Amino acid sequence: MSFSTLALDPRLQSAIAKLGYREPTPVQAQAIPAVLAGNDVMAGAQTGTGKTAAFALPLLHHLLQQPQPKPQLRALVLVPTRELAQQVEQAISHYAAETELAVTLAYGGVSINPQIHAIKQGVDLLVATPGRLLDLLGKGVVSLNKVVYLVFDEADRMLDMGFKEEISQIRKRLPNERQTLLFSATFDEGVYAFSQRLLREPTLIEVAKRNSAAAKVSQTLYLLDADRKREFTSYLIGSKNWQQVLIFTKTRQGADALAKEMKKDGLKTEAIHGDKSQGARERVLAQFKAGEIRVLVATDVAARGIDIEALQHVINFDLPFIAEDYVHRIGRCGRAGLEGLAVSLMSPGEEYLLEEIEAVLDQRLAPQWYPGFEPDFTKSLPENNKNSRGAQKRRAKKRGNGGRSGNRRQG
Ligand code: AMP
Repeated sequence: MSFSTLALDPRLQSAIAKLGYREPTPVQAQAIPAVLAGNDVMAGAQTGTGKTAAFALPLLHHLLQQPQPKPQLRALVLVPTRELAQQVEQAISHYAAETELAVTLAYGGVSINPQIHAIKQGVDLLVATPGRLLDLLGKGVVSLNKVVYLVFDEADRMLDMGFKEEISQIRKRLPNERQTLLFSATFDEGVYAFSQRLLREPTLIEVAKRNSAAAKVSQTLYLLDADRKREFTSYLIGSKNWQQVLIFTKTRQGADALAKEMKKDGLKTEAIHGDKSQGARERVLAQFKAGEIRVLVATDVAARGIDIEALQHVINFDLPFIAEDYVHRIGRCGRAGLEGLAVSLMSPGEEYLLEEIEAVLDQRLAPQWYPGFEPDFTKSLPENNKNSRGAQKRRAKKRGNGGRSGNRRQG
């Protein structure tokens, strides 16, 4: 299938040809005709599948079909994080490069004034995070009453991040007559309930299997002691000569501490997380993309939406608490057709986190030992693992009550 069969406005066709897009990705092939036909759409597609163009191209086409004497806010794209907002706005601006349409961006954590200024210049399509959009609405800078196209990008993450209330406030200011599109990497009951309130008889598009990991990412899981993870990570990166590696930790403190230690190992490493200023995050991300930093350590929220074209290696230094985050994390590599490798590190006592990941993936991930880093089972479990579900189960097994709680006197 070629893009020309999709009958998009020639200005859009020309722009994507210049970007080197030859044929639509699977999500684009399904979503573009549905959106052009005016349907609401609910699509299961993660970052890296070409989902931005899947919603942006047909929306831009609609906007171009109804030219206005001056810009009018008619399309709103809601995204969970600043990084994703920037990335999506940048992509849409490229797609709209040969048109007169005004595409603008609004996200929190930076001064609101330049955003107010940009919006006052006129905007047809706004990409925004929910909190900042509410600030702008509160100041009377934008009005949503002409918005007829609404997109929720990474809806699952938007709910995880607790934006439900903000979204319900935004929704009250939107016209009822509109076309709504929802994209989500994972689907659970929360996302379905959310979609039922906001979408009307949506066309369902499921590109990859539900909650499936990116197709081109190989996954390896190593079982090793927690206190050897850092040494192993540096060893792996050095011995395999990986040049651009994204590492995930559970906590901000963990990210900083790991980055500090890895620097001592001689690897150019920086951390990004929510405690860093927006400017610092953008700088580090740009350096990482440019190859000036070899290792980037990130928390889940900070890494959301990071799009690095040729990223091949992701390391889960900690397994995520929220199993769906695993899918998002490993989706950072192996994008746009490239091969990727996701390495996860698990310590004894963390098996309960793996069980949940396997349930989400609907796939078994068999732990391996790496020669020289085999776990030392004679060591006692770390304090914070003593109450993990895995530890509880093991203790229960030892007690012989098959995992049921309750104190049974031994002998
Ligand atoms: P997204 O999932 O929207 O973040 O897109 C992931 C990457 O794929 C981005 O770098 C896009 O520029 C690229 N991309 C999107 N659609 C296509 C296409 N049809 N052909 C080639 N690359 C694409």
